[in-house]
Amino acid sequence: MFWHILMTEICNSECKYCYEKSMQEFDNGLEKKWKFDFSAPRDFSVDIEKIKKFILQDKDPVIIFYGGEPLLQLEKIKQIMDSFKNTKVKFCMQTNGKLLDKIPEKYLNKFSKILVSIDGDRQRTDFNRGKGTYDLVLNNLKLIRKDNFHGEIVARMCLSPLPKRQIDVSDIDKQIKHLLSLNVFDSVHWQIDAGFYKKDYNKKDFADFAKKYDRSLSNLLDFWISEMKEGKVRRIYPFVGIFESIYYSKKTKLRCGAGFEGYAITTDGKITTCPIMNNITDFYCGHVEDSTPTKLKQIPVESPCTECSYLNLCGGRCLYSNKAKLWPEEGQAQICETVIFLIEELKKRIPEIKKLIKEGKIKESDFEYQKYFGPEIIP
Ligand code: SF4
Ligand code: SF4
Repeated sequence: MFWHILMTEICNSECKYCYEKSMQEFDNGLEKKWKFDFSAPRDFSVDIEKIKKFILQDKDPVIIFYGGEPLLQLEKIKQIMDSFKNTKVKFCMQTNGKLLDKIPEKYLNKFSKILVSIDGDRQRTDFNRGKGTYDLVLNNLKLIRKDNFHGEIVARMCLSPLPKRQIDVSDIDKQIKHLLSLNVFDSVHWQIDAGFYKKDYNKKDFADFAKKYDRSLSNLLDFWISEMKEGKVRRIYPFVGIFESIYYSKKTKLRCGAGFEGYAITTDGKITTCPIMNNITDFYCGHVEDSTPTKLKQIPVESPCTECSYLNLCGGRCLYSNKAKLWPEEGQAQICETVIFLIEELKKRIPEIKKLIKEGKIKESDFEYQKYFGPEIIP
């Protein structure tokens, strides 16, 4: 299973779609729906032996260091990694990449995957994440490759549709092609920043975004197939994940795994469904001191996903968004239209992909991937 450990609530970035939006939305009404608990300390402060005892009961555990920015607590990360020495535990991290150069080589090479937040080219990334971020992060990534980091580096993109006067973010094909051309990232996934804040919904703005985004998705699929013709299956996770399900007729549950294959451990040891539900008691599933990994409460998605004919391929997009329902129904439906468009466009390409597999240009195994390690898969 996947265990996000929240190392700190502090971050050394002030990104537009995270810090800035959260600073503008203190009254989204959720305090009437759920019970909040802000008692956890700012930084990770659980007895490491207790975490260890809990996680080692899991037969295939993966720890994902998470924050805020987890590398602000590098010393504690090192202590946790040391405590799991000679065990079956694997390590991943979700980071903004600004402090990657500070990880000693000995620890760096213990990570099997590092997910790095980056939104596309220099202009896009710096617009969202602050001037100089793109260069800093890329320099760090080149450095860790030089330090012989052989694990997977995943670009974790956020598409934040903003009013037109600011910036058009629908060009997912251009941005992903750019990131993949850098020869730094092994894979990429993205999430549309939609349905996470109450006040950012605007029917017309989102419709305008979705129209261009859908077109861009089709272009990206064409690129994906053209690369396959050259023998390369690019690890564009939303495509790989959905293709795999269609090809093998597999039903999926929520693709991020939140609340059944993946949980988050708060700075004081509570276990919750996903890192962003870290202070809502309604989503607490246990505590590292007295819970067993296989016996944690599971929290499934609810309506409208449970009535949706795409549920077996979509999985429900995001548990938080499904439960919070911060956008009105028509807004949720607009988001779902983009999901359905993606699934249907991919279906159209299946015969061509099957042909390439049959011809031996690519292999079925090129589409295998580790599930539930963090990427949302459904944007
Ligand atoms: S398409 Fe929308 S309603 Fe359907 S399962 Fe996905 S998120 Fe839920
Ligand atoms: S998709 Fe939603 S529920 Fe899943 S990990 Fe991300 S924020 Fe949490």
